[in-house]
Amino acid sequence: MADAFERLIGALARLPGVGRRSAERMALRLVVKKATLLKELQAALLDADGSLVCCSVCGAITRSDSDPCRICTDPGRTSRVLCLVEDPGDILLIEKAGVFRGRYHSLMGRLSPMNGIGVAELRIEPLVRRIRSEGVEELLLALNSGVESDATGAFIRDRVGAPGLRISRLAHGLPVGSGVSYLDSVTLGRAIEGRQAI
Ligand SMILES: [Zn+2]
Repeated sequence: MADAFERLIGALARLPGVGRRSAERMALRLVVKKATLLKELQAALLDADGSLVCCSVCGAITRSDSDPCRICTDPGRTSRVLCLVEDPGDILLIEKAGVFRGRYHSLMGRLSPMNGIGVAELRIEPLVRRIRSEGVEELLLALNSGVESDATGAFIRDRVGAPGLRISRLAHGLPVGSGVSYLDSVTLGRAIEGRQAI
């Protein structure tokens, strides 16, 4: 098989939720529909590369000419409550729920020694600095459920523990095995309103 095709499959297979088999099917379709699909994807990728970044403060997706993002610069939001999420996509989900008026911080993943993701790979030190400099009074852990997410939460609690800082988590009662990324906005909204101190 041509190197270019293998390279395309390899790149697609690195996307979340895409296995080798799906990547092969995608690559095949892209080559077959070269004039339409491949060109369109190429243009969209170039556009995204040129205009989208992760906010330098919270990590949310934003335009490169609007960094820090709208949430970080919104004077109507409070810096006293900081919501910690794993991925920028979780910020969008919580915003959809429409009940949270604080600010966000995305770790860009979770601790996963098996996959080589340690403390240095996550945005933990920037979190510690923000808590100190922005007058944060409550840190709301809105992490996913699972062994790695739980371990990440425990590590963060130890690392950021400061006098006067309340640490809370989403309400219990969420479906087993679910996390922020899998909740509908109503359930997520209730989980935020019913958050509990830990
Ligand atoms: Zn931001």
